[in-house]
Amino acid sequence: MKKRILSGMRPTGKLHLGNLQGALKNWVDLQNDGRHDCFYFVADWHALTSDYNTPDRIRENSLDMVIDWLSAGLDPEKSTLFVQSAIKEHAELYLLLGMITPLPWLERNPTYKEMRDEMTEKDLGTYGFLGYPVLQAADIIIYKGQGVPVGVDQLPHVELTREIARRFNFLYREVFPLPEPLLTAVPKLLGIDGRKMSKSYDNSIYIGDEGDALKTKVSAMFTDPQRMRRKDPGNPDICNVYRFHQLYTGESEVAQINTDCRTAGIGCTDCKKRLYEGMLLAMSPIHERRNHYCRHLDLVSDIIDKGNRRAAAVAKATMEEVREAMKI
Ligand code: SF4
Repeated sequence: MKKRILSGMRPTGKLHLGNLQGALKNWVDLQNDGRHDCFYFVADWHALTSDYNTPDRIRENSLDMVIDWLSAGLDPEKSTLFVQSAIKEHAELYLLLGMITPLPWLERNPTYKEMRDEMTEKDLGTYGFLGYPVLQAADIIIYKGQGVPVGVDQLPHVELTREIARRFNFLYREVFPLPEPLLTAVPKLLGIDGRKMSKSYDNSIYIGDEGDALKTKVSAMFTDPQRMRRKDPGNPDICNVYRFHQLYTGESEVAQINTDCRTAGIGCTDCKKRLYEGMLLAMSPIHERRNHYCRHLDLVSDIIDKGNRRAAAVAKATMEEVREAMKI
């Protein structure tokens, strides 16, 4: 029996290389290792929990995001790719789980507190925002997910999902397996200005960037801040360009760059040129797939429809068990 994996992403639009290295590559590996039955979804209802007043681009962003998933190597024949809001059973289970989730479990959620403190420009004092972990729990357990790929900061969410599932099983009957977090070490990629790669900082390199767009961004990347002149030796350990080389350039060339940087044998302009060439080569299968899907949007819609149908069949079967257990 393959282990069922559940994971979703909020549709924030085109994905950047931080998303690719941080989550998508792992999704693709899980899909391809032959041991997992992967369900990946566009978490469009979750986009509304914090951005309820700016929904204009959610549909467009959802499509862009699925194109990036397919470009990165997600295969609709191997993984179920679907849109959360197309499966109304998520909402029903969310409501029912809301009945049994004690309020303090939600109030102590560290992300809830952090986001409310940090995102002062948004009014996050809503019922939907407080309750998003309950929706997350519904998203996972409605498919009887056994594994959830997460970073360390997401661990409390999986723990809460487990607590909610455990409570349901205790109050009614054993319906849900308790999902395990699948922790993965992911390389953290910084944006071209050396800060966290983020759309809001306008410092991202997107999966779809190629040609001049990619070249311009690579040329603008911050390097070792202490290397002021061409003849100064550099330190690749603190250089963002070098971090990218480690991901996109061949091993022996990376070792050579390391040596040449420390002895001022290579200048940053040449180093970036080589990075651009390495990235273009490494990303070319992704770019090819991306261009193909951008030209065939009807194909993407068909993939989503098919994924929705597959997901709905599983969700409907679970909900029958849930209604039976809750005597509804
Ligand atoms: S030569 Fe390359 S690795 Fe060294 S500081 Fe310049 S950009 Fe960074």
